[in-house]
Amino acid sequence: MPQSSSSKLQKSGSIRNAAVIGSGVMGAGIAAHLANAGMRVLLLDVVPQSLTAEEEKKGLTLSDAAVRNRLSAAAVARMAKAQPAQLYDSAWTNRITPGNLTDHLQALGDVDWIVEAVVERLDIKKEVLEAIESARRPGTLVSTNTSGLSVSAMAEGRSLEFRRHFAATHFFNPPRYMKLVEIVPSEDTDPETVALLTELCEKRLGKGVVVAKDTPNFIANRIGSYGMLVTLADTLAYGLTVEEADALTGPAMGRPKTATFRMLDLVGLDTLLHVVDNVRERSEDAEEREVFKRPELLARLVGLGRLGEKSGAGFYRKQ
Ligand code: NAD
Repeated sequence: MPQSSSSKLQKSGSIRNAAVIGSGVMGAGIAAHLANAGMRVLLLDVVPQSLTAEEEKKGLTLSDAAVRNRLSAAAVARMAKAQPAQLYDSAWTNRITPGNLTDHLQALGDVDWIVEAVVERLDIKKEVLEAIESARRPGTLVSTNTSGLSVSAMAEGRSLEFRRHFAATHFFNPPRYMKLVEIVPSEDTDPETVALLTELCEKRLGKGVVVAKDTPNFIANRIGSYGMLVTLADTLAYGLTVEEADALTGPAMGRPKTATFRMLDLVGLDTLLHVVDNVRERSEDAEEREVFKRPELLARLVGLGRLGEKSGAGFYRKQ
């Protein structure tokens, strides 16, 4: 109906201040995308537990803001280097304020939309949502970028008012290029929340939205992670090298930059491991649990600290 759609439009246009929690691969990319769309963004991460050699040399301590905000400030610098100038306006970095969850939690009371993008672990996400609830204004939208954890489980323990305004907005990597956002409501999410998030993603962020059910890994990751696992298993079974498998699943299929193992390094091997574990642990289907059994090679690399591009090495070493 024209009347309700215009009032919704006004509502999505009124979302000017956002916060992104977690400044890793996805949080940094989402923050940059939101800032480029004209929103002011507070980017928060945890406070580092120790000093880097460089910080020690400068005489900094763990009480200094430069140290406490290090993770999110580094994320903005990383994104500034990586963003193609033709896609981003020259002032987007000025619209991001780096901070940390300890010192700047109360600032969440001043924002209209909070996007949670911390590590893919239910226990940690629940803790972060609890902290968000303690600081946010009633009515503030909250969304999670989970790859496929249960949205309902994440919202457990939160008030009904919070749950009505909470859903997943699952962006894909890298957020600047990937068009799809899966929006996943829980059974308590208000239809208005879904409508508003849809409009934000479509009209303000230029994305295409699919509303998915709250099932393990939603839609795209269920298919995508399955494909990656099959290629990983085939590579080992047929004695292919990583490069050979990527030649077959990359340029030959029109995906020069997103061949299987390049893609795994970009996603983060630890994140993929969480995604696979999540489907297996939540599945009631024995065959599915077998398909999503823990890929030992992936687990070994993660154990060695080879998490992909973010740690400098995964299947490939970063050049
Ligand atoms: P990441 O490992 O790059 O970053 C995770 C961030 O969480 C880090 O900045 C870390 O400091 C922070 N963090 C860790 N423990 C925390 C805590 N206790 N409190 C607050 N912050 C904490 O992970 P990512 O790839 O950016 O993934 C973030 C979310 O996005 C996950 O839910 C993941 O499943 C999802 N996701 C990832 C991809 C991808 O391709 N990597 C794609 C879509 C969705």
